[in-house]
Amino acid sequence: MRSSLAGPRVLLRRLREVMAEPINAQERLDKIVQLIAANVVAEVCSVYILRADGVLELYATIGLNKNAVHKTALRVGEGLVGLIASDARPLNLPNAQAHPAFAYRPETGEDSYNSFLGVPILRAGRTLGVLVVQNMSHRTYFEDEVEALQTTAMVIAEMVAAGELEAIAQQGTTIDLARPMHLKGVSLAEGIGLGHVVLHEPRVVITNLIAEDVEREGERLDDAILRLRESLDNMLSNGDFSQHGEHREVLEAYRMFAYDRGWVRKIEEAIQNGLTAEAAVEKVQSDTRAKMLRQTDPYLRERLHDLDDLAHRLIRELMGHAAGPEADDLPKDAIIVARNMGAAELLDYDRERIRGLVLEECGPTSHVTIVARALGIPTVGQVEDIVSLVESRDAIIIDGEVGQVFLRPAADVEQAFAEKVRFRARRQEQYRQLRDVPSVTSDGTDIAIQLNAGLLVDLPSLIDTGAAGVGLFRTELQFMVASSFPRMTEQQAFYSKVLDAAGERPVTFRSLDIGGDKILPYMRHAQEENPAMGWRAIRFGLDRPGLLRTQIRAMLHAAAGRQLKLMFPMVAEVEEFRRAKDYVERELKHLKQHGHPAPSDLRLGVMVEVPSLLWQLEELYQEVDFVSVGSNDLYQFFNAADRGNALVADRFDPLSSGFLRALRHIAQTGANMDVPVTLCGELAGSPLSAMALLGIGYRSLSMSPSSIGPVKTMLLKLDLKKLEEKLLPALEPGKASENIRELLTDFASEYELPV
Ligand code: PEP
Ligand code: MG
Repeated sequence: MRSSLAGPRVLLRRLREVMAEPINAQERLDKIVQLIAANVVAEVCSVYILRADGVLELYATIGLNKNAVHKTALRVGEGLVGLIASDARPLNLPNAQAHPAFAYRPETGEDSYNSFLGVPILRAGRTLGVLVVQNMSHRTYFEDEVEALQTTAMVIAEMVAAGELEAIAQQGTTIDLARPMHLKGVSLAEGIGLGHVVLHEPRVVITNLIAEDVEREGERLDDAILRLRESLDNMLSNGDFSQHGEHREVLEAYRMFAYDRGWVRKIEEAIQNGLTAEAAVEKVQSDTRAKMLRQTDPYLRERLHDLDDLAHRLIRELMGHAAGPEADDLPKDAIIVARNMGAAELLDYDRERIRGLVLEECGPTSHVTIVARALGIPTVGQVEDIVSLVESRDAIIIDGEVGQVFLRPAADVEQAFAEKVRFRARRQEQYRQLRDVPSVTSDGTDIAIQLNAGLLVDLPSLIDTGAAGVGLFRTELQFMVASSFPRMTEQQAFYSKVLDAAGERPVTFRSLDIGGDKILPYMRHAQEENPAMGWRAIRFGLDRPGLLRTQIRAMLHAAAGRQLKLMFPMVAEVEEFRRAKDYVERELKHLKQHGHPAPSDLRLGVMVEVPSLLWQLEELYQEVDFVSVGSNDLYQFFNAADRGNALVADRFDPLSSGFLRALRHIAQTGANMDVPVTLCGELAGSPLSAMALLGIGYRSLSMSPSSIGPVKTMLLKLDLKKLEEKLLPALEPGKASENIRELLTDFASEYELPV
């Protein structure tokens, strides 16, 4: 005969009353255990809460010895309670003492109880504690009793998440949910940020868990599911998924789940048991999450993310919240936490209030990373599970230099980082003071320091850093952050704005460098075995002259009456430059024929980044107006070492005689033939390698905005003649065994150069 007195709905109604009472957390927990015990007709009901030290502490009980409260403790994995916590699964046992995991705690006086039912207290799939009932008789608890206990566990989870239990934690203990954590990821954009968590896709806080009218809740669910399905169907049939930064496969997966009868039925059952529709969605999702988190299969874990997203969408449908960031009440020190994000979404936030960005996915070449770097937002990526480990407004520190995150940091960690931030700010201030100081070496050689850019947000840096111009404008970034191919007029407007913002300072545009790792999501592309050496950049442009000519036309229009500097990437033969130049001339002719004003001065150049050009420099220099060395690509092809592959990227040293001789040859030939040479790869941005470049003859360097201060500080103190005297003989033939890096570091320390 079953013993349950009242159905789950009655229990939930009573729970709601208890939650509304103006009592403290201990009294509330005590009332909850009484309520359950009465409802399930159990002699014992207890709540265990997980502490930061991995111990489950008895927080409330009816039936066990009251003196054991806040004393009895079991490790995760220890005893039946510990087993439930580690497995995140209920245990329903008619004879608990016969279970191999049973651990007897004499202070509780639980030896007279035989049957045992325990469920995990879960939030977003994370175990926060365990809720248990026990009886003397040997009985198996009914399915609806298990459900009732799970629902109550949800209510307790909300109490824990709201921080209510911290007030009754024993001195010296911390509740696990508030535990400080140190998480490792990958550094994507440098800098340090201290602040508070803002979830890019906030979990909607469900305050109303318990249904007043079950039928009404069922109807609300039906309506919301209908709307959800409709919106997914629409997105897929309109093909506008790329606008939302989502891929078709992901949306297909969402749609599959949204039509899954099993999923919907589970939610309906939870409503039947007395939950509101939104609480029912959350409960089902939390159960699924707990089950799936134990999966190690990456495919299934990815599907879990999809299901999470879908459940959030459904909850938002139910609660009438528009999807989107908590942008309205952004704290002044927001650290945005997201699974991943489109570049445009980051731009929607108020930059002034963002101190950092943490992502579960995304690599160094992701679009959002490029934008974060341009905006100077410290960013750490590939931080596993960060979204489910944080609560909105948690304190957080991100260290974009090392690629680490401190969640709910201890006071000493916070102090150490606050000091680091002050130190960086002082240094930045020193760099700012150098803005109007001419960049001349201590022995009087002028050096042009230019800026690498690619988005409009980069351009204020031109003024802030005092750079001489934009030495490399990566035009592909505009294409990468767009949702479809920018039209000619859009490109023209964009280039026009760039030139306006730069004013008198010259801008060197580079024609589209797509292919390789720079993929446009809206463009079909073939799978290539070696994309870096494949169909990219100028190769692609010459094979698709429509694209190249559109871009050239947009630039010619934008630069009407002013200077236009344009260079082509990945040129391997002089003939490729001639063909590109021919397109420019044809476009110019077309422009003039139609009576449009032309640029006042047109300069065409080439990126030197394919080694084959090193043996064609004389021919090349006869035809170009300028060149710019792309040392990133040149280095990877020079050493046959993939720049994106961590296993080989750092295997060789760019500051070794072989590579420096090649770079010197490019600069020297330029000087001999009167062709301006700039270097715009990452090598220009580190003070030590910039020093080496000056030593081998470079007088123009282009770098990211954050590198300008450190490089300028170095060169103002540099005696270039002395460096040349030391470095150049070591690069002579027959001296290849010299350790050039050591020579350079010794020189820097002898003259106290900050490198
Ligand atoms: C380079 O290759 O050095 C360069 C500046 O271009 P990118 O990094 O865009 O390939
Ligand atoms: Mg390149």
